Amino acid sequence: ILEICDLGKSFGSVRVLHDISLKVMPSQVVVIIGPSGSGKSTLLRCCNCLEIPQQGSITICDKDIVTDGVVLPEKELNALRMHVGMVFQSFNLFPHLTVLDNVAVGPRRLRGMKKADAEDLARAQLAKVGLAERADAYPAQLSGGQKQRVAIARALAMEPRVMLFDEPTSALDPELVGEVLQVMKALASEGMTMIVVTHEMGFARDVADEVLVMDGTVIEHGKPEEIFSNPQHPRTQSFLQSIL
Ligand code: ATP
Ligand code: MG
Repeated sequence: ILEICDLGKSFGSVRVLHDISLKVMPSQVVVIIGPSGSGKSTLLRCCNCLEIPQQGSITICDKDIVTDGVVLPEKELNALRMHVGMVFQSFNLFPHLTVLDNVAVGPRRLRGMKKADAEDLARAQLAKVGLAERADAYPAQLSGGQKQRVAIARALAMEPRVMLFDEPTSALDPELVGEVLQVMKALASEGMTMIVVTHEMGFARDVADEVLVMDGTVIEHGKPEEIFSNPQHPRTQSFLQSIL
């Protein structure tokens, strides 16, 4: 579904990512961990060309979206971007729109769906994240966990082939983390392909098929039980110690 080949990315003269190759298969869940500044967010942002990597290629659903800094034409890029759902640490909901409209706006504007169809789809996605009853609320009336679940429903309403999560629970109060992880677990068990940047080790243990440890590049990867109980790289060892 998603393939990254020899990716490199610099900001000015600072090389942030180098030599990253990764292949994500349908229904696979990949968890990315690593210290602050190790390039986790930048890698996810490269996956839908929010950042343009200067080296290497990214392939989504068998189409190259970027090759050595050359990006697909806007129209084709936008069509492929719809296959990639993204959920950020800060929920980025539209404050002036209801929950329902936040979820329906993408299908209407980007997929050209009729209002009624987009709203039906939005209600179905809200039901999936357990928020069918809050369709008419505004984001300010919701808890952080509810906002993040709306953000997930909004991404799902585009019916993406792969979902990218960038620390989706790290802005939440501890008691709200569980409800968001629960929704993500349910998605994974339905077969959604996901790349998740998170330091929630319990989630990684339960759900990840593969864990990648980043430090500018992928310094180590493997099954969660291998990485957590028997990390090979000294930087993985010190990172895991720092978060436990
Ligand atoms: P965190 O765990 O803190 O979220 P991260 O692993 O997500 O960190 P990135 O946000 O990808 O790390 O940042 C990687 C490096 O790239 C950092 O050194 C950061 O300062 C730098 N960086 C990120 N975005 C930009 C930008 N737009 N311009 C310049 N430098 C940037
Ligand atoms: Mg980050």
